[in-house]
Amino acid sequence: MTYPPKSLAFQPKREVAKIQEQKLQELLAYLSQNSPFYKDLFATNNIDINRIKTLDDLRLIPTTTKEDLQKRNDDFLCVDRCEIIEYSSTSGTLGSPVTISLTEGDLERLAYNEYNSFTCADGSPADLYQLMLTLDRQFMAGMAYYSGIRKIGAGIIRLGPGVPSLQWETILRLKPTAIVAVPSFILKLIQFAQEHNIDINSSSVKKAVCIGENIRNTDFSLNILGKKITEAWNIKLYSTYASTEMQTAFTECGEGHGGHHQPDLLIVEVLDEHNNPVTPGESGEVTITTLGVEGMPLLRYKTGDICHYYDEPCACGRASIRLSSIVGRKKQMIKFKGTTLYPPALFDLLNGMEEIKDFVAEVYSNEIGMDEVLLHLLPVSYTDDCDRKIRANLQARLRVSPHITYLKHDEMQKLQFPEAVRKPVKFIDKRK
Ligand SMILES: [Zn+2]
Repeated sequence: MTYPPKSLAFQPKREVAKIQEQKLQELLAYLSQNSPFYKDLFATNNIDINRIKTLDDLRLIPTTTKEDLQKRNDDFLCVDRCEIIEYSSTSGTLGSPVTISLTEGDLERLAYNEYNSFTCADGSPADLYQLMLTLDRQFMAGMAYYSGIRKIGAGIIRLGPGVPSLQWETILRLKPTAIVAVPSFILKLIQFAQEHNIDINSSSVKKAVCIGENIRNTDFSLNILGKKITEAWNIKLYSTYASTEMQTAFTECGEGHGGHHQPDLLIVEVLDEHNNPVTPGESGEVTITTLGVEGMPLLRYKTGDICHYYDEPCACGRASIRLSSIVGRKKQMIKFKGTTLYPPALFDLLNGMEEIKDFVAEVYSNEIGMDEVLLHLLPVSYTDDCDRKIRANLQARLRVSPHITYLKHDEMQKLQFPEAVRKPVKFIDKRK
């Protein structure tokens, strides 16, 4: 498959819909021929794919869930094993990991996707990116960024995650213009620089593509983490949201008003719990249909990620919809003594408390099956005064008191970086 030089995101909505409908029909024909899972799904539900013509007709097809993908992983594969080049996997933070297999064509599509993403985030051949994330452990994103940045013609430093001293030594020596990192790690970089008399604002780094954690509230204003970074470091932040299953990213442009949808690569629906579309600004589950994927295409796949969408055209000229930062993952919703809470809101609260240097939130079921929250905290000091302030603040903001345990620095390290994780663990779900 060849890709247009300019993303469809710039085209008027009606034109885009026509192209997507064409691609949808190609996908349906492809799935009905090659996908054991979707052949079953069409047969079981008496779906005549020739009757699915428009994007609205998609609603006649049942959605696909993460459980489907976990239970019948191999049945999603549409090609012979010898055509598979890369075996990526999901992180398995929510249940068993899923293998997503990519063909050469899929890898080309993935590169095009990140080419668009990094171009959207003001990337150019003049940039040099320091990648502060893993490129192995079957992590699709690392490989995707690498190939997308190559396509732009910008430079790449593959430094890997962690180790602030090495990150800074490399920044000072090779002078990258941009970093790709987890926002809470950017805070650690700032802290390290402050402790070692590095003048961060005279460094070469001018922008950061932020992965894995929110830097904005759903109204696009910076959240506490985003504010803490930009108050200390004069760099521009770009948020990006993606998942292994969709093999596509939603990345912000310089306006910082949500992640842009790439209509040539995905059909997106934002659905309520009854699978009806929500209106702009309402919470719904991101549901995707992949376009142009050969190995493991997905049809109406419910990602489990809850967010809002906005459909007015962006000042950057792109007309495709934009997604807010992720409100939460559906499965991670905490029903907490009469209130409901998603981890990102809890993280934002914890990030904003100056008595807390680092944290891991744990949720488990108590004897009567209700959710309980245990916060593992690295406090600034182990005094009664500090403890009192933390408890009072949590009580005031959450209106309920979570359990708290205080850890030493190395205990926190161990909890956040168990064997073989790709990102620091901030949330542990032990519910049954
Ligand atoms: Zn834009």
